Amino acid sequence: MEYFFTDTQKEIRDLARRFAQEKMKPVRAELDRTGEFPFELMKGMADLGLMGVYFPEDYGGLGGGIMEMCIVVEELCRIDGAAGLCYAACGLGAFPILIGGTEEQKRRFMPRLAAGELAAFAITEANAGSDSSNVKTRARRDGDYYVLNGTKQFITNGSVAKIYSVIASTNPSRGARGLSAFIIEDGTPGFTYGKIEDKMGIRCSKTAELVFQDCRVPAANLIGGKEGHGFIHTMRTFDRTRPGVGAQALGIAAGALDEALEYARTRIQFDAPIASFQAVQMMLADMAIQVEASRNLIYQAARAADAGARNTSAIASMAKVLASDTAMKVTTDAVQILGGYGYMRDYPVEKMMRDAKITQIYEGTNQIQRLVIASELIKGTAW
Ligand SMILES: Cc1cc2nc3c(=O)[nH]c(=O)nc-3n(C[C@H](O)[C@H](O)[C@H](O)COP(=O)(O)OP(=O)(O)OC[C@H]3O[C@@H](n4cnc5c(N)ncnc54)[C@H](O)[C@@H]3O)c2cc1C
Repeated sequence: MEYFFTDTQKEIRDLARRFAQEKMKPVRAELDRTGEFPFELMKGMADLGLMGVYFPEDYGGLGGGIMEMCIVVEELCRIDGAAGLCYAACGLGAFPILIGGTEEQKRRFMPRLAAGELAAFAITEANAGSDSSNVKTRARRDGDYYVLNGTKQFITNGSVAKIYSVIASTNPSRGARGLSAFIIEDGTPGFTYGKIEDKMGIRCSKTAELVFQDCRVPAANLIGGKEGHGFIHTMRTFDRTRPGVGAQALGIAAGALDEALEYARTRIQFDAPIASFQAVQMMLADMAIQVEASRNLIYQAARAADAGARNTSAIASMAKVLASDTAMKVTTDAVQILGGYGYMRDYPVEKMMRDAKITQIYEGTNQIQRLVIASELIKGTAW
């Protein structure tokens, strides 16, 4: 299949593919079993320059965009959706600074992120999930500082990241318009980690509570230098990172299809490879159709964002929904094609099925994505 990649994009794809095959594949089952964070893999990605692949060169990156980010995420997740998420979540943490930060903030933080310091993004709280603007974490101005109090939950890369983009309310009476975004560094006094979640899938990725107790954050770390822009930075970030969640799901689905194909060619029943049975062929064909459809929509969403298209919310959501629903379906079918062996930990497809589920939930559940798409359609603003 020809996806009309540039030569640079092909190089990036090949680099990420080789890294995933050589470094990630041998350790993925063990990382899934132990749930240990893949620090070594992250260092390996940084050494290859993959962390800053989508940052401008001025800030230490390779000068790519959302498309390059999606290419890397897809390749990593094709082998391991969990370690691939550790990479992708850094983008979620970096984008509020990249798109909303002042020049000084970008110069201060982006080169560190490009060099491999991990990032995270935190908006979710106990009562701010789908209703994401219902943030209760409070940031009160005190001279040259803001004082934060509150608890974030379910934060990917929480406890391992060094740099956090955190949404807090500077003006509770203004709801979403009273939210502001802050850059908060690991080790800031008053910032600690609470519960680390025990999860169904993506097990080597850390999902943590962030606890702020009279945490003093320099006012210079208010993203963009303006209060009240936190929700806008969040939505603009999601427009760029939802194709990335789609790419995670796509990678997982493509990896499951690879495994199912390989198994179907070699598993003999009734004196024939099971790939010779039409019932299995229909499943494989449907899996491939869904994977290709997802890939094309993700690339379209990524290219639209990189081209500066005005409103990419709907297409970003469509890419995320199609790819994540596909990942759930394709991984379930891959387990079916492997039969009883598919259910066993000896084969990677049961892990892929567990890893796939989260892509329908985070960065806005697929119900919420459908609401976004419908709203853009009805307003006539969908790109
Ligand atoms: C492993 C993991 C990692 C995460 N990583 C991060 C992170 O890095 N940073 C971060 O900020 N957050 C993160 N999250 C939070 C995630 O984005 C939220 O869990 C998600 O948005 C859903 O919120 P909720 O869990 O509170 O579910 P709820 O909002 O309580 O939803 C429960 C159900 O109700 C449905 N629902 C709710 N409202 C509506 C509606 N209006 N119409 C139709 N259906 C509706 C939902 O679709 C869902 O099926 C993570 C979550 C998990 C599980």
